[in-house]
Amino acid sequence: MNTDKTKDKKRKLIRRYTEVGIITAVDSLLTYAGERQAEMVAQIRQFVECESPSDDAAAVNRFVELVSDTVMPFAKVKTFPGGKFGRHLVCEVELPGPKKSGQVMALGHADTVWPVGTLHTMPFRQADGRLWGPGVLDMKAGIVFFIFAVRALRELEIPVGSKVVLQLNSDEEVGSESSRALTEKNAAHSKAVLVLEPGTGLEGRLKTARKGVGVFTIRVRGKASHAGVDFQTGASAVVELARQIDRIAGFIDLERGVTVNPGVIAGGTRSNVVAAEARAEIDIRIRRLQDATALEKKFRELKPYDSRCTVEVSGGLNRPPMERSVEMARLFRTARILAREVGVELEESETGGGSDGNFTAALGVPTLDGLGGVGEGAHAAHESILIDRMADRTALIAKLIAAL
Ligand SMILES: [Zn+2]
Repeated sequence: MNTDKTKDKKRKLIRRYTEVGIITAVDSLLTYAGERQAEMVAQIRQFVECESPSDDAAAVNRFVELVSDTVMPFAKVKTFPGGKFGRHLVCEVELPGPKKSGQVMALGHADTVWPVGTLHTMPFRQADGRLWGPGVLDMKAGIVFFIFAVRALRELEIPVGSKVVLQLNSDEEVGSESSRALTEKNAAHSKAVLVLEPGTGLEGRLKTARKGVGVFTIRVRGKASHAGVDFQTGASAVVELARQIDRIAGFIDLERGVTVNPGVIAGGTRSNVVAAEARAEIDIRIRRLQDATALEKKFRELKPYDSRCTVEVSGGLNRPPMERSVEMARLFRTARILAREVGVELEESETGGGSDGNFTAALGVPTLDGLGGVGEGAHAAHESILIDRMADRTALIAKLIAAL
């Protein structure tokens, strides 16, 4: 990694970024972050170039180690086993101020959806006022913002009344199965959770509501036969599944925010065989927890149209919805007031996408999500963040930490 060539490249890059406009402001935190834009870009680049797909534990662990090394000078770092996934990181930041009361938790994830090698076709780059690359928005920039936010609080000696911990999970993009308990344990004794996921849209709206997410698998077993010789003795699992899919389309209620998507189907062996087996994977989203039970019941009660077929349903809700509580609305209002100090008129949004903030909000812990990068193209080839929104985001995170 640390060859002279890359060092040289980095130096050149830093020089180039320094020439980019510096934000003018009187706010000390905003000034701090603005003056360190080149350093932040270099840090984001280093994080993006350390690829970390969820299903590659070794790669995720390399990234976790990189983050550990970065925060080590000012934080106590612990990592926790993630089963077949990489390790989860929890660190407690040393911050100025006398005795701490209560805890504020910053929450994010170390994994991305991009396989190792994506950098060959989607290299990190700076162009058109943005930083581009796999995972830059979701959510390596957010981690860097947090790091610079706490560095700012330390260097400007701004007192912080709470204990501050950062948790990065290794399996968020694949459902957080191995990290959920750790997230809930740390959130349970926190007074607020700040989620470093990207904001919504190019305005960077915060997220105060997220839908709950679930997955159902429907397995149909029929009876195989020769499609020519023995057609009538067969019972097609494919036809049965198609009818079931048509039935579950009726579970959709857009007004209530209930959606059902059969994203994957498979079945059959050859066109001249009446299919013995078929399967579908169905993504469900709900806005309110109270809708979960009814929807789960509807899935469990699916009966075959053709009595010679069997229908087996498994799965269920894996992330409860993040519902906008009174406390969450209050936390957002605090953020909006603080954002005005750095010249930003903050808005809030609701999204159908889940995050680990769903778990913390469901525990009743006020959760503010979407504090990370402002950009677009998460999970897509045009994934990017706006450079001129890095400083105000970093300052906002610092201000929230100091205010809570
Ligand atoms: Zn994410």
